[in-house]
Amino acid sequence: MYGELKNYLNEEISKLHEQKLYKGERIIESPQSAEILVKGKKVLNFCANNYLGLSSHPDLIKAAHDEIDSRGYGLSSVRFICGTQDIHKELEAKVANFLGMDDSILFCSCFDANAAVFEPLLGPGDAIITDALNHASIIDGIRLCKAQRWIYNHSNMSDKEELDPSTGKTSKGLEKCLKEAKEAGCRFIMIATDGVFSMDGDIANLPAICDLADKYGALVMVDESHSSGFMGKTGRGTHEHHNVMGRVDIITTTFGKALGGASGGCIAGPKEVIDWMRNKARPYLFSNTLAPSVVGATIKCLDILSKTTELRDKLEENTKLFRAEMTKAGFDIIPGEHPITPIMFGKYDNCSELAVRFADRMLEEGVYVTAFSFPVVPRGKDRIRVQISAGHSTEHIKTAIAAFIKVGKELKMI
Ligand SMILES: *Cc1c(COP(=O)(O)O)cnc(C)c1O
Repeated sequence: MYGELKNYLNEEISKLHEQKLYKGERIIESPQSAEILVKGKKVLNFCANNYLGLSSHPDLIKAAHDEIDSRGYGLSSVRFICGTQDIHKELEAKVANFLGMDDSILFCSCFDANAAVFEPLLGPGDAIITDALNHASIIDGIRLCKAQRWIYNHSNMSDKEELDPSTGKTSKGLEKCLKEAKEAGCRFIMIATDGVFSMDGDIANLPAICDLADKYGALVMVDESHSSGFMGKTGRGTHEHHNVMGRVDIITTTFGKALGGASGGCIAGPKEVIDWMRNKARPYLFSNTLAPSVVGATIKCLDILSKTTELRDKLEENTKLFRAEMTKAGFDIIPGEHPITPIMFGKYDNCSELAVRFADRMLEEGVYVTAFSFPVVPRGKDRIRVQISAGHSTEHIKTAIAAFIKVGKELKMI
C-alpha cells in the first residue's frame, strides 16, 4: 500500500524543492548561545529566540542539574494522576506573580497552551475575534473550539470593512468585528492576539484593544511568547510595555524563548479560568507533565528576572545600537523597538534570491542570519530577520553590523 503514498510524497517534496519552499535544518554542534559552532566553524548567532541569553546560562544549567538530582528525570504521568511535584506548583505561582495574574497552569509548550485555552471557555454561542497575523498555534486553538470566529485585518482597530482593490477581498477592523459579534447575540466575546508579531516585530495596540474590549464587554487574551521576560520596564511583557497590566484577562506564553529557551509554556489568568483549565484543558489532561529539570531552571530564570532588570536593559541597549547603525548604513528596516529587526529586500530586483544570497554570504562572514520568503511572509516582503540578544556583547553587535555593511556594499544594496 505504501507505494502510492511514497510516490505522492516524493512528487510533493520535489515540488517544494522546485518552488524553493523546502525547509532544511541547519545543524548546530554546540550549546545555543551568541557564538555557536556550525559545520565546525564558530559563527555569531543572530537568529535565535534566546532574547536574554539564558539558554546556556550557568545558573539555569545548575538549577536543572539540581532538580534532576532532587526530583528525578521524568514523572511518567499526566499532572492530575501523579505528575505534579512541589516545584510545579512553585513555578505556577511564580509565573502568575511575574505576569501579574491570579494563577497559572503549565503546559509542555505554548503551542499546547494555545491549543488548550479556547475550547473549554467558549462554545457555539460565543465569539473569538482574532488578528489576521496571529501565530499558527492560536489559529489551531481556535479551530479546536466551537465558537464563531471573526478575523480582523492585522492591527486594524477600525469599525469599517474595506475593499483591497489589489486582491478584491474585503477586510474588517476589530471594532467592526465586535459590532457584528454583538449583533449576532454572542454570549462571551474574546479578542485573541499575539503581544508581539514575530515576522515584523511589531507590538499589538493593547491600549486600543483593551478600550474596545471595555466598550463591547469583551475579554482580552494575549500570547506573550515574544515578549515575556523583556518587554516593559521590568520585563513582564507587552501589557507592562503598554501600561495595561490588569486589563488583559488571559495570557499565554512560552518558556522556550526568553525564559530559558528549553520548553514549556502556560496559561495565566483569573483563578476560576485556571481552575476550569485544570479540569477541562485537553493538552493538560492527556499529555505528560513538564520535566523537573525544565521546571527547576524556569524557576531560577524567573528568580533572576525578578531581582534585576540587567538583562532586559542590555537587550534594549543592543537593540537600539543595532537598529540605529543599520538604519544609518542605509538598510531598509521596519522601525520599532523590538529585538526582532527585519531587514527588508522588497525594493531590490530579485529580492527573494538576493535575501538568500545575502544570508549565505553573512554565514561566510561568520554571522548566522536567516532569509524569509513567501509563504512565510507576503510576496515582495522578503527579509532577513535579525534577532538581537542580551547575550550579544557590544563587540558582537558591531561585528554583525560591519558584516552587513560589507555584504550590503558587495551586493550593491547600500
Ligand atoms: C513560539 C511561539 C509559540 C510556540 O511556543 P512553544 O512553547 O515553542 O510551543 C506560540 N505562540 C507564539 C506567538 C510564538 O511565538
